[in-house]
Amino acid sequence: MPACKECGEDVEELFNVKVGSKRRLVCEDCAELLEEQELIGEEQEAVIQQMMGYKGRR
Ligand SMILES: [Zn+2]
Repeated sequence: MPACKECGEDVEELFNVKVGSKRRLVCEDCAELLEEQELIGEEQEAVIQQMMGYKGRR
């Protein structure tokens, strides 16, 4: 059985998840977690860019 690269547990199926510029083979649970973190990171970046843009126009 393949082992998840994130939590180290043996699982039936591994998922190929893109984290930043890297790819990781992880179990379903970790795949969901990593995807959530990725989304949060993108949102934070967008918010920071908006704030900077807003300040820049003042
Ligand atoms: Zn895992």
